[in-house]
Amino acid sequence: MAFYAGFDLGGTQLKYGLIDEKGDTVFKAKTLTPPSIGELMGLFKKLWQELRAKAGKQIRAIGLGYAGIYSLRNTNILQSPNSSSLDNFDLSAGLASAFDAPFWVDNDANLAAFGEYACGAGRNSQSLILLTLGTGIGSGIVLDGDVWHGSCGFAGELGHITVRPEGEWCKCGNRGCLETEAAAPAVVRNHWQLSGRSDTTTAEDVFHRAEAGETAARRSFAKVGSFLGIGLGIAINFMNPERILIGGGVMAAGPYILPHALEEARRRSWEAAFKCCSIGAASLGNDAGFLGAASWAKKQAG
Ligand SMILES: [Zn+2]
Repeated sequence: MAFYAGFDLGGTQLKYGLIDEKGDTVFKAKTLTPPSIGELMGLFKKLWQELRAKAGKQIRAIGLGYAGIYSLRNTNILQSPNSSSLDNFDLSAGLASAFDAPFWVDNDANLAAFGEYACGAGRNSQSLILLTLGTGIGSGIVLDGDVWHGSCGFAGELGHITVRPEGEWCKCGNRGCLETEAAAPAVVRNHWQLSGRSDTTTAEDVFHRAEAGETAARRSFAKVGSFLGIGLGIAINFMNPERILIGGGVMAAGPYILPHALEEARRRSWEAAFKCCSIGAASLGNDAGFLGAASWAKKQAG
């Protein structure tokens, strides 16, 4: 039996685990992401030894999803939004001294999309888009069974397509990105505007109010849904995807978001393309990243 290891390196947590040849999870765990490069590389070495102790030489390959701008062309980190000490770090060379098996590094959202394709709600499809609605919006694209990387690995950033030209300023330098209009902070901002109060601090607060029947709370999610629908319409017209999967914490409020998103997407996309796209919930939650990383390594190792 062969096994494949996956790591999902986020700003606060490092999730990791092993899958078998069928893509089933045989082990998973998580730990805190350390603040410095030295500690991070030491941690990878330690975790790799832990995985080796569990499955020995049967681990054929490793995949690693990284939450930041990683250049596939130069195999280094161009920009690390969670820890500036990693900016310009040659991650591939660092990992080569920690791992003694072939490994592949990729953007975390790309690999999460591949995880849903290989092990989750995207099984049995050929092309899909995954959108993860949380504090920001992560996204990845699988086309004909492959991650769509673009020229240098930066494709699939649907969180930064413009859905509202005069909207909020985004950390990417643009304004009115899907991320600024449809992620958790937008839910709270909408609620402040619509309720005239400022006593909600998280999308979860607004969700509880929506559940209690508050109109302003429900409209806050409806507004986010409409902007999400604009993004979906663009994606549908551009890609004609077989599936669009939506995950992330904000989707706990899916019943208040999705009907509005679907209505807007239908209005803004080519009817034939909308009809043949199934839009639904992602299924792997926070495991999508490491499962995608391991599955990607399995595919690359052949
Ligand atoms: Zn942006």
